[in-house]
Amino acid sequence: MKLLIVEDEPKTGQYLRQGLAEAGFSVELATDGSSGELLALSGEHDLLILDVMLPGCDGWQILRSVRAAGLDTPVLFLTARDAVEDRVRGLEAGADDYLVKPFAFTELLARVRTLLRRSNGVAQDSQLQLADLSLDLLRRRAERAGQRIELTAKEFALLELLLRRQGEVLPKSLIASQVWDMNFDSDTNVIEVAIRRLRAKVDDGFAQPLIHTVRGMGYVLEARH
Ligand code: CA
Repeated sequence: MKLLIVEDEPKTGQYLRQGLAEAGFSVELATDGSSGELLALSGEHDLLILDVMLPGCDGWQILRSVRAAGLDTPVLFLTARDAVEDRVRGLEAGADDYLVKPFAFTELLARVRTLLRRSNGVAQDSQLQLADLSLDLLRRRAERAGQRIELTAKEFALLELLLRRQGEVLPKSLIASQVWDMNFDSDTNVIEVAIRRLRAKVDDGFAQPLIHTVRGMGYVLEARH
C-alpha cells in the first residue's frame, strides 16, 4: 500500500518515511506544499499524511484540492498546534483524522492502519490469495494451509509483490526496484538470498511449491499442476 507524506520539517519527514517503510508500506515524501499537492492529485496513494503548515501551499489547501478533484483518499493531518480551531477546520475540510505533534510513532501507525481499514476500496483488496497461501495486508499476516508464517517487513513486501502479479515472471531488477526502492545493476545476490529465505518459509514442508525460478529470467509465483 502506498502512502504520501507531505512534511517540510526534514527530520520528521525522514523519520516517518523510514518508520512507515519498515512497517511494510511504500512511501513517498514531499517536502513542500506545491509538490505535495501535485503528487496527491495523482490519485495513486491509499493514504495522505499532511502537515498543516507548509511552504508553497498549506495542508488545508492540499486537502481542498484533493476533495475538489473528487478523490476520497483518506487524509491524516499532522498539526503542531493543539488548537481546537485547527482540528475543527481540518475535519470540516474533509480530513479523516488528525494527530498533534509531538506524537509517538506507534500512535501514528495505529491511526494509519485504522484509516486504511476504514476506507472501502482498500478493504476489498486487503486479502491476496493463491491456492492455500494467503496474505492479509491490513493485519500484516501470512498464512499457508491455515498455519501462520512469520515474515520480516521485506519478506512481506516481496511476497505481496509476487502475489499481486502471480503467474507473471518477475525479473530481479523489477523486484529490486519495487521491494528495495533501488536499482541493482549487478548485485542481484540480495534478491536471491531473500527469495531463498522466503521459499524456506512459504514452500518447505508443503507438497506443492508456489515460488518458481525461471532460469535467466526471474521468479514467478504460481500453483503448477
Ligand atoms: Ca511544517
